[in-house]
Amino acid sequence: MTELQRRLRERGFLLLDGGMGTLLMAAGLEAGAPPERWNLTHPERIADAHRGYLEAGSRVILTNSFGGNPFRLRGRGLEGDLTALNEAAARIARKTAEEAAGGEGRALVAGSMGPSGELMEPLGALTFETAREGFAAQAAALTEGGADILWIETMADLREVRAAIEGAREVSELPVVATLSFDAGGRTMMGVTPGQVLEALGGYELAAVGANCGNGTGEIEEVIRRMRALNPSLPLVSKSNAGKPTWIGAELVYDGTPEVMREHARRILELGASLIGGCCGTTPAHIRAMAEGLRGVTT
Ligand SMILES: [Zn+2]
Repeated sequence: MTELQRRLRERGFLLLDGGMGTLLMAAGLEAGAPPERWNLTHPERIADAHRGYLEAGSRVILTNSFGGNPFRLRGRGLEGDLTALNEAAARIARKTAEEAAGGEGRALVAGSMGPSGELMEPLGALTFETAREGFAAQAAALTEGGADILWIETMADLREVRAAIEGAREVSELPVVATLSFDAGGRTMMGVTPGQVLEALGGYELAAVGANCGNGTGEIEEVIRRMRALNPSLPLVSKSNAGKPTWIGAELVYDGTPEVMREHARRILELGASLIGGCCGTTPAHIRAMAEGLRGVTT
């Protein structure tokens, strides 16, 4: 049994963290700049963001490596730093979790692996083999840096999810989690339904499957409800955005307050998710409210 399974069994659910981008922008990251570079240039600011979530009650934190695959780094001129950026991301998260550890032991570190940003064959030029190799390189560095879990997220294309899982498995024995973003009436941008996800990924023995980002709390609750109806035992992940985004002037603002996320946390647990956190627009204040919402709930 992995440590993640042991803790899930013991507690019934685990609180995840929230968005990273918003916090880094508030700390001075320029819009459009690659956040992963800060793992090397401003590690203390990444640690501060993790600390905010750990203090809010997060028991699993995601590394600052969402765009740390070779496809996205190439566009930033950072491909040569792939290993250093991902290793540092995992090291910073692990060190911060160790320093913040209380009586329950330290929070687990999940190595974030986001999408390539490219279209896979036959729609685009990215081959399965190239994608698999690229994700393997990222997974190896996250493992080396001290991650406890490899966390594939915000995916839309099942072929890309499979390439990332197979790449991860090739270089690492860590448990693998995969979540897709459902933002088009219960489907991903590539048209994938929750049922298709469970069917396509069923053979991989993933530690958990689920949804992140997307189109507000109502839509992700429906996705989790459907997944639970189709599979009664698989651990499910939910990381919802803080409501829906609207532009106010030049700023993208999410309408979900911490109170909205507190109620959402209770509902999503009831619907069957056991790894529960937030995505875009969520901050430590949202995660703290979610921790309060889940306090005293037993599963
Ligand atoms: Zn998001």
